[in-house]
Amino acid sequence: MAVVGSHSRQMAYNGAPAPREHAILSATQPFYQAATVTRTDVEPDRPIGYGAFGVVWSVTDPRDGKRVALKKMPNVFQNLISCKRVYRELKMLFYFRHDNVLKALDILQPPHIDFFEEIYVVTELLQSDLHKIIVSPQPLSADHVKVFLYQILRGLKYLHSANILHRDIKPGNLLVNSNCVLKICDFGLARVIEPDENRHMTLEVVTQYYRAPEILTGAKHYSYGVDVWSVGCIFAELLGRRILFQAQSPVAQLDLITDLLGTPNMEDLKHACEGAKAHILRGAQKPPTLAALYNLSNQATHEAVHLLCRMLVFNPDKRIKCIDALAHPYLDEGRLRYHTCMCRCCHNTSSGRQYTSDFEPIAPVPFDSNFEDHLTTAHQVKDRLHTFITDRHHGNSVPLCINPHSAAFKSFASSSVASASELPPSPQPWE
Ligand SMILES: [Zn+2]
Repeated sequence: MAVVGSHSRQMAYNGAPAPREHAILSATQPFYQAATVTRTDVEPDRPIGYGAFGVVWSVTDPRDGKRVALKKMPNVFQNLISCKRVYRELKMLFYFRHDNVLKALDILQPPHIDFFEEIYVVTELLQSDLHKIIVSPQPLSADHVKVFLYQILRGLKYLHSANILHRDIKPGNLLVNSNCVLKICDFGLARVIEPDENRHMTLEVVTQYYRAPEILTGAKHYSYGVDVWSVGCIFAELLGRRILFQAQSPVAQLDLITDLLGTPNMEDLKHACEGAKAHILRGAQKPPTLAALYNLSNQATHEAVHLLCRMLVFNPDKRIKCIDALAHPYLDEGRLRYHTCMCRCCHNTSSGRQYTSDFEPIAPVPFDSNFEDHLTTAHQVKDRLHTFITDRHHGNSVPLCINPHSAAFKSFASSSVASASELPPSPQPWE
């Protein structure tokens, strides 16, 4: 843990004046020191969240005094799986160019490869997330729900057009700023779509409450529908201000889903494993109770419930696609509000608002995952990652590094969460 700090200290003090006491970040050029002014005195560096595989702090960029998010990715090189996951997440963060998807702004200089254990990424900073907002007492109007749902789907359409599955869409991974702009974050579990249906995909994904039925029933292959299911659960949670399917175990989770949707027929169970099929068919035949969705809140209008019912479909082949959900009339007002006063793609001119020609843009080119081919050892990935980060610093920007003298650095350095390899595997209930 101290290795990065001590090495970075050398970099920070190499010809530069002593960095500010408060700031975790330093710039490696002295002439940027003055730009921090007094904002760090008002807003000290502090922790703001924990993703699936890292801790996030709110810090000040010493080059311009702006507040940014600093994500620490610890224990990166423990094994090949965690190395590849981090490499993939970094590649994605630097690939993203969309206002509803969090992107990387910078990455801290790595130490010599012999001391390279952790990675620090700088991203845009948003003050809150949808989980905090949903559990807060602040009112959520119908307009709020519409503009949030619109932005979730807008960001997801972009991700899916890039062939990326997020696989952990949940309220805590939807960052929100004070203007209600929303960005999808945390790509620790994201991956490129697997086109070959015969290739098995891991079921160790998606926080249980937002997990799609095909994953709960042990399907060996799944696709974009898992993200759309999660969005449906979040849509209902925005309306009702409580988690839609909150069960104690994956089997109980599936039971709650069939309580609402009714017992699926054999066609809808074609992706399910035998154990899951037996469990569902063993129970009494349940009728659908979707009318209960009208009771979520008085904002659960016909249009809202209609779209919700198109997302919460048991069979992923029949579930609405992101692009079609965006075309649903329920989202017309959300789109208008977003592009009238929140977006960065439309502009005010002397003759009125100039709207963009494409309200929901797709990725210009799909995300290329070829870099993952032929990576067979953790050492090899570490080498590639080191080169990837070092190469990013050959541009014009002044590199950033850690200031180990910062008052907050000690707690930042020691903050950590379990890496994937340390998490207990969730039980596969059907085996
Ligand atoms: Zn716009």
